[in-house]
Amino acid sequence: MAGYLACASCAIAGKVTPVFTAETQGHRKTIYNRGVVGTFAFGAGVAAAAVAAGYQSMAPTGQLFGRTFTGLASGTKKLALTYDDGPNDPHTLRLLEVLAKHDVKATFFLIGRYVRRRPDIARELVRAGHVVGNHTFSHPNLIFASEEQTRAQLQDCEQALADAVGEHSRLFRPPFGGRRAATLRTARELRLEPVMWNVTGWDWKGKPSRYVEQRVTRQIRGGDVILLHDGSHAAFGADRSQTIIATDRLIARYKSEGYEFVTIPAMMGKSVLV
Ligand SMILES: [Zn+2]
Repeated sequence: MAGYLACASCAIAGKVTPVFTAETQGHRKTIYNRGVVGTFAFGAGVAAAAVAAGYQSMAPTGQLFGRTFTGLASGTKKLALTYDDGPNDPHTLRLLEVLAKHDVKATFFLIGRYVRRRPDIARELVRAGHVVGNHTFSHPNLIFASEEQTRAQLQDCEQALADAVGEHSRLFRPPFGGRRAATLRTARELRLEPVMWNVTGWDWKGKPSRYVEQRVTRQIRGGDVILLHDGSHAAFGADRSQTIIATDRLIARYKSEGYEFVTIPAMMGKSVLV
């Protein structure tokens, strides 16, 4: 995982690092847990195509493969906190307490299989006024997925969300930020709106909250979509306490500087409901 995200984030910093490492190749074989990869040969072929396409496949702000939302013009006094890979127990609920303390609403991209496991937490998010969106059913890198597999991943997550919370946003964030033109086309066919980010907290690395806070503050320009995690695609129950502490401090800091924290639909200025 680190390989993918490190690359995606390096693109923000203006650096280009190899997209595919030994680590990510190994990961590719494990991320599909529902048998969605038919053969290894298929995956290898798609991997080669993705390498040819360059880092645009993973760069969060890259628009080569189709338009995705990554924030507003810099200088805008609005910030959007986004949390991926939940729902998670107990950290999603603890995060909700911090957000409630500051009266801030955020956007959560949920993994369908975790929603199936804890629909009550997904409902709690919605009840508290946060926006929930689609982060696929089992968190594969969609660069390696066929259109059929992509469609199944998105539809299965949509169904899990619908069963848990009913009507919800049409927002979609691809796992690892990985997408190609066909991924976005399939998402749009399902009336889903792809959302990326332009600031990342690198909080999946298990670093202290100060580290996460510092990484975010270095990248804030105004109008930013901030990527953090309340869960982990690798395992349910991952410790996100440092992300929660960092969230508390980031909100306090930027509110004092006159920033307003908004959800993605509010930032986009349009309805992205069903
Ligand atoms: Zn994720």
